[in-house]
Amino acid sequence: MHIVYLSLGTNLGDKEQNLLSAITEIDRRIGSVRAQSAFLSTEPWGFESEHTFLNAAVCVETELSPNALLHATQQIERDMGRTQKSVDGKYHDRIIDIDILLYDDLHINTKKLTIPHPRMYERDFVLIPLREILPQKN
Ligand code: AMP
Repeated sequence: MHIVYLSLGTNLGDKEQNLLSAITEIDRRIGSVRAQSAFLSTEPWGFESEHTFLNAAVCVETELSPNALLHATQQIERDMGRTQKSVDGKYHDRIIDIDILLYDDLHINTKKLTIPHPRMYERDFVLIPLREILPQKN
């Protein structure tokens, strides 16, 4: 069994419902959701939009390999109606974005997957929810 931390974000439609639906699908398709942060309202980061974001982080226990996990998160994004991926580092409004932050204590650096997520340390909307659910070290 592996412990993974995922970051969720949405800035279109019923954002609270989008996060709740994504968490339900994660629990169903990926594994037991062990912890869930509060939902955090944030400004768009890296692009201009009038739509603010709602973000959250979850901790999940899974049997999936890192690649199977990426496949599952991308399938949930697609099934929830996300059509546009970020291209050349450009961001867009989105129904749901699911990023893999941590997978046990693995370091992975392939074309498809970088774990820990390379940009997580510079983004408060990732770090604040994540800190809420990480085990306390002291
Ligand atoms: P985005 O459109 O922002 O969801 O970016 C998705 C792309 O980032 C996909 O093509 C993934 O292969 C790649 N990627 C690399 N590392 C990660 C990660 N840790 N979690 C999610 N996607 C990742």
